[in-house]
Parts: sequence; structure tokens; C-alpha cells
Amino acid sequence: MSRKKVTVVGGGFVGSTTAQRIVDLELADVVLTDILDGPPAGKALDMVESGPVTRTDSRATGISTSSGDYSGTANSDVVVITAGFPRKPGMSRDDLLKANYDVVKAVVEQIVKHSPNCIIIVVTNPLDAMVQAAFKVSGFPKNRVLGMAGVLDSARMSSFVAMECKVSVENVHSFVLGGHGDDMVPLPRYSTVAGIPLPDLLPANKIDAIVQRTRKGGAEIVNLLKTGSAYYAPSASAVEMVEAILKDKKKILPCAVYLEGEYGIKGLCVGVPVKLGASGRRRDHPDQVDRRRKRRPAKIRRQRKRTLHRSGDLTEVVLGN
Ligand code: NAD
Repeated sequence: MSRKKVTVVGGGFVGSTTAQRIVDLELADVVLTDILDGPPAGKALDMVESGPVTRTDSRATGISTSSGDYSGTANSDVVVITAGFPRKPGMSRDDLLKANYDVVKAVVEQIVKHSPNCIIIVVTNPLDAMVQAAFKVSGFPKNRVLGMAGVLDSARMSSFVAMECKVSVENVHSFVLGGHGDDMVPLPRYSTVAGIPLPDLLPANKIDAIVQRTRKGGAEIVNLLKTGSAYYAPSASAVEMVEAILKDKKKILPCAVYLEGEYGIKGLCVGVPVKLGASGRRRDHPDQVDRRRKRRPAKIRRQRKRTLHRSGDLTEVVLGN
């Protein structure tokens, strides 16, 4: 049986750590691509040379797509898109919209040509808008275009809960839905420590502090790094989604997906709980979260529209009908 193939587009911090994690976990052979000439090949070779130590036979190959040649990515099972610009201190994710839309559009056009059956996981920011762009440009069914944000935001929330409660992170399950930005929706009632909902464990002011820190989690790291944005937790989160797909785990994870009326939202990509398996998004996870979220669509839709309208000519492509 041959190994699965994952292409990671963009060999910067998030892309290279994503590739490394996939290789280390022996989940698939990896093709790492970048518009730069040299770094993707160098990083891939470096990963291959770590194989004898980390005991992995997954192969890594690095290719430059500066000439527009994506043939090395052909027949990928999963494509993770991390190409584009990260935030600098003081920038919001939405400030990246125009520059990263051009990158994601160009990448998706090529990916679709060479891997028409792949599942796309978008990581590039502003996440929800880039997922929407990838969905529109690819022409793929909605089950095969996903965005990574909720897994990361939930992991951040779980880290803060574990710190506050002084328990293992393995005892904590958090759920953050909605957009990847100030409109994200951390859900304390659906976040638990050893099965106990947060409101039954912590006073409201502590929960509020965790929620606020989660919402600003990305900016906290951007401000500390000074250049670039987070990549360890983002790559771990993207790989959790890749693993759920490659192993057909049917794992329920918060993912940004295109909604056609689910949760009362139509024509937008928003983070909701999704059952992830071999065919990508199997079906949204129906539970009480659905009923809760039904109270919020108007607000989310307003916020998302505000973001997208700032981009003027992109609105039609990104927002759809
Ligand atoms: P980075 O600058 O380290 O890497 C980006 C890479 O993309 C660079 O190597 C660049 O050469 C490459 N690139 C640019 N245009 C390209 C193209 N047309 N084709 C192929 N490669 C191209 O940035 P990073 O820290 O790896 O972040 C990448 C993206 O991921 C950013 O947009 C960032 O905001 C986003 N991000 C999202 C999340 C999330 O939760 N969704 C988390 C962290 C970062």
C-alpha cells in the first residue's frame, strides 16, 4: 500500500513546521512548495535526514513553484495552504486580505488542476475570507474545502484553562466557534475539565479573562515575536485536521466551512463543529451548539460582511451570493 500524499503550499514558519509534523508522525509523504527557489528543497532534505533519528520513512520533497510548475504536487490527497503574508505587530488579520487573496487564488487554481480530488485545508489569513475564496475558486464541493482556525483557538483556550485549573491539558476540552478574529465565539458551557463545564468550576471573572485572552491569543504571540506570527500551535492544529482525514477518524473538530443555511447562516464560511473523515467534512455535528449558535448568525453575518466589504472588489468573489 502506498503512502498518502500531502502537499503543503508555503514553506515559511507554519508550512515547514506542518510538513515536519506530518513527516515525523509518518502520516504521509509530503511535498513542500514555495515561491522561493531553494528553501523548500533545503527544508525537505533536512527533514529526510532527520528520518533515521526520528524513525520515519515518510518522504519529504521540496519544490519551487516560481516558474508556475505545480506538477510535483499532482495527485495529492490533502493540500494545506499556508502561502501568504503573516501579521506584523499592530496589524489585524483582515489587513492581509488583498495581498493574500491574490496568493490563495493563484495557488488554488494550480492545485485544482493537478489534484482535482484533493481536500484543501486553508491556513492563510484572514482565514474565513481565504476559505471562502478557495471554495469559490476551486469549484470543489463544500465537503472538500476547510479552514483551520477553530482547532487552534480551542487549543489556546484549553491551554489557558489548564493553566488556571492547574490540571493536565489532556483533561481539558474547549470549543471555540465562529470567525477567526475578534468575532470568534469561545463557548465556556461546552468547554470542560474532566467532563465538568467551566461555569461549574470557575468564577465568571476567571472565565471572562480566559475568553478575552483566547480572543487575543494570536496578537499576544505576534507582539512577543515582533516579526511574524505563531506557528507551533497553528501547525499542530492543521496536522490534527490532516490526521483526522487521512485516518478517516470521523473526529469532530471546529473547522471553517461554507454554510448553506446550516446554523442559520447562508453563503459564508464560518467555524462550526465538523465531523472530519476521509471525504473531508462528513456532516456538521448536530448538537446543542447548533441551537446556541442560531442566536448569533445575524451578528456573525454583520461582522463578516463588514470585513469583506472593506475589500471592495473582492466582495463578490469572497462573499458569494
Ligand atoms: P511566512 O512568511 O513564514 O511563510 C509564508 C510563505 O509563503 C513564505 O515562505 C512565502 O515565500 C510563501 N509564499 C508567498 N507567496 C506564495 C505563493 N504564491 N506560492 C507559494 N508560496 C508563497 O508566514 P507563516 O508564519 O508561515 O504564515 C503563513 C500564513 O498563515 C499567514 O497568512 C498567517 O497569517 C497564517 N496563519 C494562520 C493561522 C490560522 O489560525 N489560520 C495561524 C498562523 C498563521
